[in-house]
Amino acid sequence: MTTVEAPASHLLENPFEIAQRQLQLVADVFGISDDLVKVLGQCKKALSVSIPTRMDDGSVEVFQGYRVTHNIARGPSKGGIRYHPDVTLDEVKALAMWMTWKCALMGIPFGGAKGGVICDPKRLSRSELERMTRRFTSEIINEIGPERDIPAPDVGTDASVMAWIFDTFSMNKGHSVLGVVTGKPIMIGGSLGREEATARGALYCIRQAVQKRGEQLDGMTAAVQGFGNVGLHLSRFLVEDGAKVIAASDSVGGIYNPDRIDVSAAIAHKQETGALAGLRGTEEITNEELLLLDVDLLAPCALEQVITGENADKVRAKIVCEGANGPLTPAADEILEDKGVLILPDVLANAGGVVVSYFEWVQGLQEYFWKEDEVNAKLNDITTRAFNETWVTRESKQTTMRFASYGLAVQRVAEATTTRGLYP
Ligand code: GLU
Repeated sequence: MTTVEAPASHLLENPFEIAQRQLQLVADVFGISDDLVKVLGQCKKALSVSIPTRMDDGSVEVFQGYRVTHNIARGPSKGGIRYHPDVTLDEVKALAMWMTWKCALMGIPFGGAKGGVICDPKRLSRSELERMTRRFTSEIINEIGPERDIPAPDVGTDASVMAWIFDTFSMNKGHSVLGVVTGKPIMIGGSLGREEATARGALYCIRQAVQKRGEQLDGMTAAVQGFGNVGLHLSRFLVEDGAKVIAASDSVGGIYNPDRIDVSAAIAHKQETGALAGLRGTEEITNEELLLLDVDLLAPCALEQVITGENADKVRAKIVCEGANGPLTPAADEILEDKGVLILPDVLANAGGVVVSYFEWVQGLQEYFWKEDEVNAKLNDITTRAFNETWVTRESKQTTMRFASYGLAVQRVAEATTTRGLYP
């Protein structure tokens, strides 16, 4: 018998402990009471389920899945479902807490949730993925729903996974329930602009930041880590605004050209071969090297904890835009702040996805669908307002963009909690 060694997890620190520590630090700056920190520092509910799934070869595999609600003081809980081999309950709890802050900062009427299944979606066939998703949905069916908890895509899930969740839920109710999940394919009630929304929101934040610094995006150099939904579209949008994307990467590795990468060719190459590596006119670099390039803008759009106390002092970017959730550890935050790097934190920079998820939920409930221009204009309004509120708070409190954004959000959730009062 051979034993296969599990690859090391990308999680070097416990993400939930990081999220709790961040909350405490923010509470100190914003004068949030200890009682509220005790309430907001925990997740309201965490469901852990096993998901027996028939594999294509006839055997049965049992996957582990989670759905966590952090807080519902401001509305039903909202957040994606992640399919990844490194998923842990504490990772899902941290991501759920960050969703609460993200929705509050954006001023949309949701609390925070997250889900995850420990699996490698790249190694599952489509039919295995579908059977696993449908069984997972049925295991959490009493917890989700348009007024309760509304899943969406995250790392490793996409519109087809949302279609299976929507269908499984609807089949059990006996009618279509559009509001149960967002990020659905357009033809079954998805919103125009949802797929690109996270990247578009990041672009709107970057535009604001650049403008505030009296600079121009046109001609700036950028490195983008991750070429999934966020990184791919952000690279495209940056190029449309005149920036030069000089490096990009996926989970296998990165590509680099000091002049610029042809992003359209990179997208086509990735579609054809499944990877960025090997694109003509580029050199190969590692994911770690990409983070340390001398660029104006660095956008980590993949997973958590890629910039840590170990490598932060070698980061040379002037602006770091967190397209992913939690790509910087608190130690990295401190080092980069000391170096004068402008950090656009996750709850602000990647909130475009959940904002358009909110629009999709509203459109689904009303069964009335908007034009893409309308979606993008409303997204711009919301992200720009949140950016400006954060910017002003950062100055008035003499703090960082991270603490300003988390602080504004925590204050809003704290106020809602206090106003509603503690039951019973
Ligand atoms: N998974 C995305 C996030 O982390 C989107 C969540 C949603 O649309 O509900 O923000």
